[in-house]
Amino acid sequence: MTLVVKIGGAAGIATINIVNEIAQCVVGGQRIVLLHGGSDLTNTLSQQVGQPVRMITSPSGMVSRYTDGETLRLYAMAVAGQINTELVALLQQQGVNALGLAGVDGRLLLARRKAVVRSVSPEGRVQVLRDDYTGQVEQVNRALLFQLLDAGYTPVIAPLALSHEGERLNVDGDRAAAAVASALHAEALVLMTNVPGLLSNVDDPTTLISTIPAENLGNYMEYAQGRMRKKLLGAREALNGGVPRVCIGSDSLFAVLDGAGTTIETAYIPAERSHV
Ligand code: ADP
Repeated sequence: MTLVVKIGGAAGIATINIVNEIAQCVVGGQRIVLLHGGSDLTNTLSQQVGQPVRMITSPSGMVSRYTDGETLRLYAMAVAGQINTELVALLQQQGVNALGLAGVDGRLLLARRKAVVRSVSPEGRVQVLRDDYTGQVEQVNRALLFQLLDAGYTPVIAPLALSHEGERLNVDGDRAAAAVASALHAEALVLMTNVPGLLSNVDDPTTLISTIPAENLGNYMEYAQGRMRKKLLGAREALNGGVPRVCIGSDSLFAVLDGAGTTIETAYIPAERSHV
């Protein structure tokens, strides 16, 4: 069985600790596929070159980065150039034979481009934006991932997908991780971030929601603002894709797997009764 782990791209994530835990798992024989984000570094690079960071809110309330051609280049530098290679090197230091790929490599992540996106201003005005290089993952080359895992590699995936027209696209890391977890029939998807999990009050870490039955996930959407909505959407996509458990949390992969964060689970059906 395979575990799919995503390490967020926001500031304040305990990357070194998580990498050490991943290394312990891999040395113990666990198959892991790692994905990562890159939002913070993309913002930093944008600021350094004087390119404004533009976040847009869709009519359904999803916040994403408006990615024109120049932003796409900075995004690729951040996720595939810097973060991916750094994670691979950190894992290699721990004796893990990590192999970095962006979603464009070997058609690993194929996505549909949303060339025209709608952005809603705080006053409710809808603007149509063109030249956006974002998309949604539609297909995962799982044969490639299985070949790599079977050969003893630990794949590390940057969220840069290939469009059906052969362009590079910015895809959301959480939802890309959900697509990979579904394609691999992973035992669990773990989203490691900089908050303890889903909070009923985003400003109060003691308001952690620790377990959510999968069928009730929709009722919890109202708590999630901004980027947390993408995580819950990714969780729903993974659960619908047959992944039985999605965990969201911070600091320690082992603790989050043990239930320290938010765990969203499908009801357990004992194997001997599953046919009744
Ligand atoms: P990552 O880069 O790890 O994917 P994001 O910054 O994209 O992380 O998403 C996590 C952020 O979501 C948190 O830092 C927090 O500000 C925000 N957030 C919004 N609503 C909630 C909520 N209800 N509970 C927890 N975090 C929330």
